[in-house]
Amino acid sequence: MRSEKRFGRVIVIGGSMAGLLGARVLSDHFEQVIILERDPEPNGPEARKGVPQGRHAHGLLDAGLHVLETLFPGLMREMYSEGAERMDMGRDAAWYTAGSWKTRYISGIELILCTRTWLEWKVRGRVAALPQVELRSSCAVEGLITDPAHTRVMGVRFKTPEGEETLMADLVVDAGGRGSRAASWLEALGYGKPEEEEIRLRLAYTSRFFEPPPNYRGDWKMMAMFPRAPEQSRGGFIARVEGGRWLVTLHGYFGDDPPRDDKGFLEFARSLPQPDIYEAIRDAKPLTEAVVHKIPSSRMLHYERMENFPEAFVLLGDSVCALNPVYGQGMTVCSLSAQLLGQTLVEHKRASPGTMQGLSRRFQRKLSQLLSIPWMMGTTMDLKYPQAQGQRFPGLGLLHWAFGTLIDLTSVSTLACRQFYEVMHMRRGMAALLRPDLLAAFAAYGLKSLFVPLPRRANVDTLPRAPA
Ligand SMILES: Cc1cc2nc3c(=O)[nH]c(=O)nc-3n(C[C@H](O)[C@H](O)[C@H](O)COP(=O)(O)OP(=O)(O)OC[C@H]3O[C@@H](n4cnc5c(N)ncnc54)[C@H](O)[C@@H]3O)c2cc1C
Repeated sequence: MRSEKRFGRVIVIGGSMAGLLGARVLSDHFEQVIILERDPEPNGPEARKGVPQGRHAHGLLDAGLHVLETLFPGLMREMYSEGAERMDMGRDAAWYTAGSWKTRYISGIELILCTRTWLEWKVRGRVAALPQVELRSSCAVEGLITDPAHTRVMGVRFKTPEGEETLMADLVVDAGGRGSRAASWLEALGYGKPEEEEIRLRLAYTSRFFEPPPNYRGDWKMMAMFPRAPEQSRGGFIARVEGGRWLVTLHGYFGDDPPRDDKGFLEFARSLPQPDIYEAIRDAKPLTEAVVHKIPSSRMLHYERMENFPEAFVLLGDSVCALNPVYGQGMTVCSLSAQLLGQTLVEHKRASPGTMQGLSRRFQRKLSQLLSIPWMMGTTMDLKYPQAQGQRFPGLGLLHWAFGTLIDLTSVSTLACRQFYEVMHMRRGMAALLRPDLLAAFAAYGLKSLFVPLPRRANVDTLPRAPA
């Protein structure tokens, strides 16, 4: 791969998951990769101002984990040996979702449980060690530089504690996260604005570390509880993370924010659809204060639909699409997007050797296809709440019925649960749900759902035991 390298310099705006993974992939195609990150140099795996969500529970789905392992061979083994939990989604997740507990079985679908700050720190260490990469902290990008005719991006303007600087490059990648200012930079340069899709949720996360009670014997590594829309709006997670701790996150929609104080936090946990999270944490010892993060909405910006778009500029990560975090897809989408950027560069070099012409559009179009499935899955579920503000489309009611029925079925059918996890973990596309044996089981169950109430056809009450 290295011998094919022919581009000079690429600038990556933002040194979080999308920026770091993007930089790793770009190091195969550029002589020099410069990451400009607004935050000061971190001293260790600590929460940063630019990534406030880093203090809350973050799961990395199977597809994302495999991309990371491909980009950084041995990373997962190293993290497991240093205290991250390796978990099998079918066996080790106690997951109550939308009114029923998932069936449990050995799935071969892997998840790593650790704090987001530590995962990012590990990835950062690997990326910073690459000879092509230069990671510059305390550099806040303020705008793009284009050629006089505004046909292509030539570089960036940025601020450091010492003053203002400019830097030129063959390609600029925006990975500035949800707060990225790329849309307004493009508008100020006369390109217009990207179309925006938004589902307003007013979701709040409140998280706290606990030491598990000494004699607690749960047969799970992660417990998750999702509300059944539209009647319920509260949920929570417990994840076993490095250091033998539990990271407990509670969440509520539409302004129903989980409180930060001891009593309020426990009472909120007690009010969840099932008592299991409350029962696990009531005797656990809090290790930290609780912290809150608010997520106004899920949001997607359609850069691929813009009539005018500059050459030599691409965007990835939350700067394009910030998903509802409860579905745990964001970092996996960053990984898959970085991988896609690498594949697109390989194809592009073959089709248009030695030029960036056409790369931006080619990548943003492919990225929008990749994003369409996680976006559709999450927003469809969220639009079940009448309070969720956003574009509703014909056939949504039927989709809600189909998703809801499938989810109920996953509590009693290993086949349905397996296929659902394959899609959710982004290992397979939606076609995995169209297998004839699953369709037959779905049709029979769907018919049953018209006559048999939920508690008599789904596992609504008892957490199934993990298989040995
Ligand atoms: C509460 C919460 C829980 C979540 N849980 C999960 C989960 O369980 N699993 C999962 O996969 N995802 C989860 N996510 C989503 C995940 O955090 C994001 O998808 C992911 O962090 C996106 O990475 P990013 O690099 O695109 O953006 P960010 O992580 O937001 O990082 C953007 C970076 O760019 C820098 N930056 C911004 N502007 C500039 C500038 N002008 N100049 C220089 N630097 C700049 C910032 O300082 C920051 O470092 C969660 C999100 C939230 C809010």
